[in-house]
Amino acid sequence: MRHTYLSGHSGQATVPQRRIVTARHGTATFVSKFQTMATANHSTVRHSPSRPASGSRQARLVQPATANELVRVLETGTHYPSPLRALGSASSCTRCTEAAGGTLVDMGEMNRVLRIDRDSVTVQPGITIAELADVLDSEGLETIGGFDYANRTVGGAISAAGLEAMSAGEVGSFSSSVRQIKFVTASGQRGCVNSDTATLLRLFRMSYGLLGIVYEVTLRVRPTQSFEVQAMKIDVADIHNLLARLTQSRSSARLKLFPFRGTVHCELRDSIAGADKGGRLAWRLKSWTVNSAMPAAAFALAKMMPVGKLRYPIVDSLSETTLNLSSLGPLKSGSAAIAQMTQTNVFGAGPCARTSWAFPQTSFASTVTAYFDFCRRHYARTGFRCDQPAVAFPTPKDPGALLSPAFEQSVVTLTAMSNRAEGWDDFAFEYAEFAENHGAIPLFGQSQHMSARAVKLSYGKRWDAFRRTREHFDPERRLVNQFFENFLAI
Ligand SMILES: Cc1cc2nc3c(=O)[nH]c(=O)nc-3n(C[C@H](O)[C@H](O)[C@H](O)COP(=O)(O)OP(=O)(O)OC[C@H]3O[C@@H](n4cnc5c(N)ncnc54)[C@H](O)[C@@H]3O)c2cc1C
Repeated sequence: MRHTYLSGHSGQATVPQRRIVTARHGTATFVSKFQTMATANHSTVRHSPSRPASGSRQARLVQPATANELVRVLETGTHYPSPLRALGSASSCTRCTEAAGGTLVDMGEMNRVLRIDRDSVTVQPGITIAELADVLDSEGLETIGGFDYANRTVGGAISAAGLEAMSAGEVGSFSSSVRQIKFVTASGQRGCVNSDTATLLRLFRMSYGLLGIVYEVTLRVRPTQSFEVQAMKIDVADIHNLLARLTQSRSSARLKLFPFRGTVHCELRDSIAGADKGGRLAWRLKSWTVNSAMPAAAFALAKMMPVGKLRYPIVDSLSETTLNLSSLGPLKSGSAAIAQMTQTNVFGAGPCARTSWAFPQTSFASTVTAYFDFCRRHYARTGFRCDQPAVAFPTPKDPGALLSPAFEQSVVTLTAMSNRAEGWDDFAFEYAEFAENHGAIPLFGQSQHMSARAVKLSYGKRWDAFRRTREHFDPERRLVNQFFENFLAI
């Protein structure tokens, strides 16, 4: 077990090289090809640019390598100070993973694939979705749905609300494909929830490390499916028709919104039996262009061309051009596995500020128009605008987790992103006001400046039920940091 001290939440943590072991039906094999990638993804502890680490209060970083070591970190009488907060790849953009004066429990060392069966896989939580996709692909299998940000860990992805592109009939969120979770409670007791304890399983999915720390996850998987990609660009005035079409189709969709051009780009994926599952090289190139090269170009342009009026039209044109890549032959088909395992590191380009809210799908067409107006008014008043297009994922209703933002209705998550840090915080604050005024549901890991009022309005009785169970699992509040304290107090 390794220990490090971090100043607040912003220090650099050197994580030892990780090793993934796959065990198919009990036979263990070492998979060394993942070592470099795994280390790169875990080398930095990040925090929201809008919420700097709180003063000089240090967090201790501990990296358990086994479930027994995790028990020793959490058990009563331990010398590890509270709050004890679990850490995946630390890509959340709120203070949900902050542990000022306490202990960050980095689960990155526990990244093994433990067992692959016909329709399920059992893993430790520190494995990333990209790493898992690669292992599953060699068995002709894939996880269900989703196509963005595969650098997150399985533990982080099932413990927090996800923004993913799902087809109708699939689960609405990655966490709903979880069949079983094994965890250690705040007092060091081991526990297990699965379909025999369905109510508890729903509580543990998306529970943000507030009920215990997950050390083993069993996920539903399926044979690899190929999809065909259809890309289109529409005027914002036609968004209503597009959303109506999406509700009736089985396509999964990702929208990119350009408020200053009044346009929306849409990428649709439809499962087609027998379609080509795509080439790794083409998909890696696409990911690199969209996630690394394009943000890096925007970042560099900001230094060379400080005048926004000149720079932003160029940045928007570059973004639109990269999106047209989807129309190229080799990218017209693919599979979730290829799309996930070829993802490049999206942190490469400099500070990437982001904040997401989940809006009711029924009123999303008018929300988009209002969001475009909001962005333009904010820019006219403050001179700040996001240099990246906003991203939206339609998410079908999914009551698979008690704290699911899509528990009661289908939602569309809308993420504002920018590589420009100056002016971001005011924008994110006003976007939070905009979101609350448009009935949006906050995501504890992804909605910057979310208020206790928004939590109460959005989660209501579900939050009360979660809070009551939480008190049972953690009566001494060892897992609660100041961020969650604000919401648990309402
Ligand atoms: C550039 C960028 C793009 C992104 N795109 C997407 C996207 O497309 N879709 C999407 O869903 N998200 C996206 N995100 C957000 C982020 O990936 C998700 O919030 C994800 O769930 C976080 O995973 P993580 O491994 O980084 O977890 P962390 O941020 O480390 O943790 C998330 C939460 O889970 C808890 N947790 C982590 N591990 C455990 C464990 N083992 N046991 C118990 N609790 C645990 C933490 O305490 C915390 O509350 C993006 C983030 C960035 C920076």
